[in-house]
Amino acid sequence: MKTIENRSCDYCGDAISLDRNMNSRYCCNECYYENKKSRASEKNRQKNQERELFSNDRIIDTLYKNIDKNQVISAKELIDRNFNWSIFTGLIEVEGIKVKKLQYYGYTLFTNQTVNLWKL
Ligand SMILES: [Zn+2]
Repeated sequence: MKTIENRSCDYCGDAISLDRNMNSRYCCNECYYENKKSRASEKNRQKNQERELFSNDRIIDTLYKNIDKNQVISAKELIDRNFNWSIFTGLIEVEGIKVKKLQYYGYTLFTNQTVNLWKL
């Protein structure tokens, strides 16, 4: 099979044969469809994460309204509301404390299973 060295499949990395369309980014139709599929599922994953992030924010919003500033609450309050601990957008520092950032709120989970909520 004749190939041009600088043309490789975007999906599997194999060389793209010369008899494929010059604009083709894939070595075969399987790679084209597999790539399409994995992009769709990546999109889905992102959507789900956004939804979870939004849900986390809503949970904290509800709790935040009922506590005093700097009051810590039990992590159970969040667990009972199906808070997703693995979803956050980054880590920041507020008043010297590391805070996991959501959209409008952030939280700090302490080792004694209490949580500090922050409005960002
Ligand atoms: Zn391929």
